[in-house]
Amino acid sequence: MTIEIVTFIRELYQTNEPIYLHEPLFIGNERRYVLDAIDSTFVSSVGEYVDRFEQEFYNYIGTENAVTCVNGTAALHIALILANVEQGDEVITQPLTFVATCNAISYQKACSVFVDVDRDTMGLSPDALEDFLLQNAIVTESGCLNKTTGRIIKAVMPMHTFGHACRIDEIATICQKWKITLIEDAAESLGSKYKGKELGTFGDIAAFSFNGNKIITTGGGGMVIAKDPGLIRRAKHLTTTAKIPHSYKFIHDEIGYNYRMPNLNAALGCAQLEQIEKYLKFKRQIAKKYRDFFLDREEIFVDEIKEGQSNFWLNAIILQSKNKRDDYLQNVNAQNVMIRPIWTLMNKLKMFAHCQSGPLENAEWLEDRVINLPSSVRL
Ligand SMILES: *Cc1c(COP(=O)(O)O)cnc(C)c1O
Repeated sequence: MTIEIVTFIRELYQTNEPIYLHEPLFIGNERRYVLDAIDSTFVSSVGEYVDRFEQEFYNYIGTENAVTCVNGTAALHIALILANVEQGDEVITQPLTFVATCNAISYQKACSVFVDVDRDTMGLSPDALEDFLLQNAIVTESGCLNKTTGRIIKAVMPMHTFGHACRIDEIATICQKWKITLIEDAAESLGSKYKGKELGTFGDIAAFSFNGNKIITTGGGGMVIAKDPGLIRRAKHLTTTAKIPHSYKFIHDEIGYNYRMPNLNAALGCAQLEQIEKYLKFKRQIAKKYRDFFLDREEIFVDEIKEGQSNFWLNAIILQSKNKRDDYLQNVNAQNVMIRPIWTLMNKLKMFAHCQSGPLENAEWLEDRVINLPSSVRL
């Protein structure tokens, strides 16, 4: 069984060398723009590529504006500050996510609260969210109060797992009803859609990542978008040490961050963004090959849902049991074809073990069975 998958992946990538999960690809203007940034001497957080990358990004996503950050985690942190998440507040998220989602919540000294995912999207479940709120929360003058903990639920932060859209439209409706700010952790889902609309544009605020393993990369980098232009102005202020513009004086009006993306990285980003349509097309082709391969087998290929259009950032399959999953991991990795299990659930990590959780059956079921397959773009 695992021999066949190894052979299939080796044919897919036509190599006998080690095959990694996700490698970046630089075949466009990357060298040209980065060298141009070096020649300009503007290599840090001021420079024309930073503004240009922001502009081209929001043209691509179709939003009002965007602010770059040094990485996706910083973008999530800024998103939480924009949502007024403060010490002692709560943020509802999914336990099945990369640790950065919850780390960012902790940077604001706020508490993560874990609500289950849907099995098909692997992202936050609107039904589980509604159930959790009905059982625990009440809308008050000061916001959505968690009666169980006595804290305010300031934000809901779903994550679009491996690029697959969660039911974000339904989640947005629930957040409106319960007066909670919606932040999308869209770190993995640039180029994905739900009901024909770009992910990241459903929330009040969204954060993206351009880490080396994401669909496009700036080396390290992130982006914050928001519906309210006032929030974007604030994000720019916060990410640039909260300095009041002045031709020579240093005046800062609050504690800010040095979170703005350097021009060198933005130069890489501009070149990468030019390639994204090509990458998305290739990703769909790999996904189709995996889908066809697993069609008559016991492993289940994780496909996009009817309302969703995935970027297929990382292809995933569901195995029949934890034991089969472990055998798969052992055997395929031993053949130098990199496959990975999905993350350990956040509520099982010691930093987040004390956090409130709803029932997490789907997340636990997926945790035991999901594996990621090599998904690099090769053109
Ligand atoms: C990659 C990722 C991040 C963080 O991005 P960095 O740029 O690595 O800081 C956050 N959340 C999720 C779900 C991610 O996959």
